[in-house]
Order: sequence, then structure tokens, then C-alpha cells
Amino acid sequence: MAQIVVVFDFDKTIIELDSDNWVVDELGATDLFNELLPTMPWNLLMDRMMKELHAQGKTIEEIKDVLRRAPIHPRIVPAIKKAHALGCDLRILSDANMFFIETIIDHLGIKNCFSEINTNPSYVDNEGRLRISPYVDFQSSPHGCNRCPPNMCKGMIIERIQASLAKEGKKRMIYLGDGIGDFCPSLKLGEADFMMPRKDFPVWDLICENRALLRAEIHEWTDGDEMEVTLLKLIEKIKIQENNNSNSVQLLSVDCKFETISMAAHEALPPPLRVHQ
Ligand SMILES: [Mg+2]
Ligand SMILES: [Zn+2]
Repeated sequence: MAQIVVVFDFDKTIIELDSDNWVVDELGATDLFNELLPTMPWNLLMDRMMKELHAQGKTIEEIKDVLRRAPIHPRIVPAIKKAHALGCDLRILSDANMFFIETIIDHLGIKNCFSEINTNPSYVDNEGRLRISPYVDFQSSPHGCNRCPPNMCKGMIIERIQASLAKEGKKRMIYLGDGIGDFCPSLKLGEADFMMPRKDFPVWDLICENRALLRAEIHEWTDGDEMEVTLLKLIEKIKIQENNNSNSVQLLSVDCKFETISMAAHEALPPPLRVHQ
């Protein structure tokens, strides 16, 4: 069972831009989108835009083609594949929608790297129109978090994941994101977890302004190169710490100097110590 859970935001974290904007812009509907944006929540607007595009004769295949062309930094896919190969449990937590995300990760050949995708539901109806609905039905049961958009509180989803992980034994979490919606989940991370905010993006600014509210260790990244290096280093660091901890339990039982030995072990990576009583 994987000890490390890595949670990725999708837009501007895995792919280089926002998939909603990318589809709207590439299919020539930017003006209508901007006109309607002040009048309704983003998530409902995307469903509406799919209706408009369908009425204009745009097909699901055309939308898929646009999604498959979404720009991505060349190191992101290798980073995800390596993290998966190292035994991490990878998940996506996104305010985009299932159709966009699945189309893209399928195309990139990384769909099987993820154990879970938490996002707004979507499906193609009988007319061939893509329908997008909110993750949370905010009319009947609002989530009540004032930091997050009405259709999704990522913090609550992280809490649900944490609760289910607690049943499986100890887990450490690494969270990667860029947007305002990634701030709420960063507050739910514990001190053994890691937050990887994209530097100079909205979540980074919020974290800088509210540094004391976070318990997790913070490691920023700017692009795919840095994301890959930082993510793999953190995975390695956790694996070393977990190894040392299992050694330290034995050491503690004979009252050794836990801190000193644990630190030294971290530097030199000795083989497991056997303590005979
Ligand atoms: Mg994002
Ligand atoms: Zn929230």
C-alpha cells in the first residue's frame, strides 16, 4: 500500500493553461464567455458555453481535438510517471470537469497513473452536447466554505481523502496547485505533509500572506522542470524519513539519543540498526 499520496490540481498545474478557457478560446467563443461571466457562476457558465458551441455545430470530436492540443511542459508527464513508478498514490483534484481531464490524460498516456479524479461531473447527452454539472449541488446542499467557489470546496475533499487514508494506516500527502481554490486544501494539510504551490500564481500569494496558517512544509515550483525535481526530491525525503522512523522506534525502545541518531541516519543512510535487548 502506497505511503505517499500526491494530489495534483489540473489546470495550470498538470497542463500549462486553464482547460475551460482553452476550449472556449480555441472554438472562438471568448467574447460570449466574457459577456456572460459576470452573470453566473463559472461552472454553470461552462455548461452554458457547451450548449452555445453545440448550437453552433461544434462537435464532441472538435472539443476533443482542442483538448488534445492543450499545451503541457515536457517534464510533467515524466514526473507523473516516475512518481507513480515509485509507488505513490496519485490523484487529481480539479475544478475543471471529468470529460476535459480524462480526454487529456488519456491522450498523454497517464490515465492509469491516477487512482482517483475528483472534479465536476460531465457527460455527453443524446444530442451530442457536453453537459457539465457542479461537484456540489449548491442549490440543495451548499458546502458552506466561504473561501471556495459554490460548486467545489477542495478543502472538504482533502478532508474526505484524509479520513479514508487514516483507515489505511499512516500516509503522507504532497499537494500541488496554482489557483485560489488550492489555498483551502493547503490549510488542511498536516505538519508531516508538503504543499507545492506554483510560485507567483494566486495560491502562492495567498500562502505568502497567510504563512502562519499552514502547517505543511512549503516547496514552491515555477515550471515543469522545477516541479519534477522538487516532487521527486520530496518523495525521496519522505521515504528516507519513513525508513529512519522505523529504525528510530527500535532505538527509542532502548533510550538512545533519538534526535542525534535520526539526524545522522538522515545524512548517511546507514543500513537498518539492529538493537538487541
Ligand atoms: Mg489550477
Ligand atoms: Zn473551501
